[in-house]
Amino acid sequence: MLYIECPYCGSRAHEEFTYIGDATKKRPDGAEKNDPAWVDYVYTRDNPRGPHLELWHHSLGCREVVKVLRNTLTHEILATGRPGDEIAAPEAEAGQ
Ligand SMILES: [Zn+2]
Repeated sequence: MLYIECPYCGSRAHEEFTYIGDATKKRPDGAEKNDPAWVDYVYTRDNPRGPHLELWHHSLGCREVVKVLRNTLTHEILATGRPGDEIAAPEAEAGQ
């Protein structure tokens, strides 16, 4: 079973969490609605192999958002933190 260390609750089973998405995407500032930066922000996702920063929602726990560094090949949880925390992510290989 996969366990995720919630910074608010401690170690919990991953079934308590809901995957939200890529934590590396930055919301564009001042861009127009049809700006390609918004299209990229909303629709374009990488599919990395290796360590990847993700946001998970502790939906069956404290209902807080947790930043997770997860290896997409092994599913190993390498680090967790609050959404504003800096978590250094090693470079992952580009997916296909
Ligand atoms: Zn929690």
